[in-house]
Amino acid sequence: MTQVERQQWDVVIIGAGGAGLRAAIEAREQGLRTAVICKSLFGKAHTVMAEGGIAASMGNANEADNWQVHFRDTMRGGKFLNQWRMAELHAREAPDRVWELETWGALFDRTKDGRISQRNFGGHEYPRLAHVGDRTGLELIRTLQQKVVALQQADHKETGDYESRIKVFQECTVTRILTAPGDGPAADGEKTGTDGKTGSGKAGGDRVSGAFCYERETGRFFVMEAPSVVLATGGIGKSFKVTSNSWEYTGDGHALALLAGASLINMEFVQFHPTGMVWPPSVKGILVTESVRGDGGVLRNSEGKRFMFDYVPDVFKEKYAESEQEADGWYEDPEHNRRPPELLPRDEVARAINSEVKAGRGTPHGGVYLDVSTRMPAEVIKRRLPSMHHQFRELADVDITAEPMEVGPTCHYVMGGVDVDSDTAAAAGVPGLFAAGEVAGGMHGSNRLGGNSLSDLLVFGRRAGLYAAEYARENGESRPAVSEEQIAAAAEEALRPFSAGTAEAAAAGAGDGPAENPYTLHQELQQAMNDLVGIIRREDEMAQALTRLAGLRERAARAGVEGHRQFNPGWHLALDLRNMLLVSECVARAALNRTESRGGHTRDDYPDMDREWRRANLVCGLAAPPDDETGRISLRRRTMPAIRGDLLELFEKEELIKYLTDEELTAE
Ligand code: FAD
Repeated sequence: MTQVERQQWDVVIIGAGGAGLRAAIEAREQGLRTAVICKSLFGKAHTVMAEGGIAASMGNANEADNWQVHFRDTMRGGKFLNQWRMAELHAREAPDRVWELETWGALFDRTKDGRISQRNFGGHEYPRLAHVGDRTGLELIRTLQQKVVALQQADHKETGDYESRIKVFQECTVTRILTAPGDGPAADGEKTGTDGKTGSGKAGGDRVSGAFCYERETGRFFVMEAPSVVLATGGIGKSFKVTSNSWEYTGDGHALALLAGASLINMEFVQFHPTGMVWPPSVKGILVTESVRGDGGVLRNSEGKRFMFDYVPDVFKEKYAESEQEADGWYEDPEHNRRPPELLPRDEVARAINSEVKAGRGTPHGGVYLDVSTRMPAEVIKRRLPSMHHQFRELADVDITAEPMEVGPTCHYVMGGVDVDSDTAAAAGVPGLFAAGEVAGGMHGSNRLGGNSLSDLLVFGRRAGLYAAEYARENGESRPAVSEEQIAAAAEEALRPFSAGTAEAAAAGAGDGPAENPYTLHQELQQAMNDLVGIIRREDEMAQALTRLAGLRERAARAGVEGHRQFNPGWHLALDLRNMLLVSECVARAALNRTESRGGHTRDDYPDMDREWRRANLVCGLAAPPDDETGRISLRRRTMPAIRGDLLELFEKEELIKYLTDEELTAE
């Protein structure tokens, strides 16, 4: 029997980005003992990298803004595929979450009259992004960490132990969610939610009993026993070659959910941010914040043409300027001018840049020009975009106050994620499992608007913490027992890379053949996803991707490492490969199935948006038993519940006609 240390907690949060920390604060405030586990150092999550700001309709810059306008923008940005209830909750609650941050000590940039300043971003009708220069995520994480410390100090006063009610385990990775037969009382999330789905899923399904983890520094295994687990693990970008994501975004939470019996939705929708650095090669993909365009930056091709005017799709034509003069006038006088097309939603801008480069009008390094140098005085650029100024000077030897940047699309964000109940964040199918932040699906539909992630983290992080605490409290008396067999199997799986390529490993089902280098496998995976399931997709290429993924999956079973368990990055990557391959298969399978173009999913062979697909969610589950022919992922199509009538009334009929089927329109 595998001997591993065990700890008991009420709520375990996996991830210490904005969603994880907000969930942890809420669970602890509900009086529950809460543990937070994160793969990297505490404070180093994607959230800290967020630049532009947090979207909330506080109406500071334009009093006409309100939650209804924010809801409308979010639905338009997501091409009406969003889980509308999530979009509603998000729009309604985001301002409270921002003000709450301020009461916890966040220092946002101010307007002249002392209110929180709000800036423009693509797809948002009014200036809506509360920000701290272009380092908003840093302030958000700093504030949440400070709040965690304040709670720990309060606990110390009461119990003599800072970590008695909230403890962070940094540089620890979860490799399995542990489950037990579902004989406990019904979870609150099992009630039918307002969006018509059931919350924490099928009656009698296995329920959460804890999480299996390893410490990166020592390689030591440990188990966190808890009735409630919140996934807040962020994105999947490291499966693609050109990405703004950092090393830890290997889709762990997505894969952990699948392996525990939950489902993923919308996985075909991956956001390629239009503006990543393209040069030098060592920094290709690093993000250039949308605030550059929000603050007046313009896109030009190699001929000097401001090309975005040629790419305004019909559904957005009425809202965007037709001339440079009108577009420029909007910054000063938005009442009488329409928005510049550079501020179209990200999917539109990314496709336009891709087309310009393909047509031979790109920059020497395969991007387009993004210019602020001719639009603002140098000191304004340095004040409003300090990180961008620093980033280009340090990494590309470019002074953005004097010359344009070269930019191109980069894999940035995944709209798809764990299928959750909109109100409770409970994962369908696995009682006790919750998900919030980028790892959860549905909120952003087929395309996320900039700034809507930071607000999503806070709104649904709080909800996940609240309902996870409630579930833990209700199930406290009948905590599920952690199975010894599951612990042994998780430990064996985690140790497999050390014996890869041996007869013993082959006998245990790892397949015949020599050990494979995890770094090589990772590079091949990234190349395949970039080339075959990237920004523009075709049936034959995605079918090819699935064949390549099957080959990689077979080889990854033999991913081998040398050395020992103490801080061994090769070993960590070998373990991450399982997750990246599962998630990549979800993306490729769903993208192949969706025969239309919508939001972040663009098909060369089906270039139009198809109203018949609007209500379709593609739901990915683990195929049982896994089949080498068809892969590890099963896919089914589910129809989304109709949008509530009062929310539909927020839109003009002429607009709805562009998205909804005749049947939906007449049913209204
Ligand atoms: P993250 O902040 O990504 O945190 C995930 C956590 O999970 C980390 O602590 C990680 O260590 C942990 N983790 C992962 N796997 C495991 C595991 N197996 N075991 C244990 N722990 C694990 N959005 C906006 O709204 N506005 C912006 O201005 C903006 N700018 C951005 C700029 C950049 C460069 C990037 C990359 C993203 C930006 N985004 C922005 C998007 C936004 O930052 C992310 O979507 C968001 O921060 C995700 O937050 P999260 O809490 O879901 O996860």
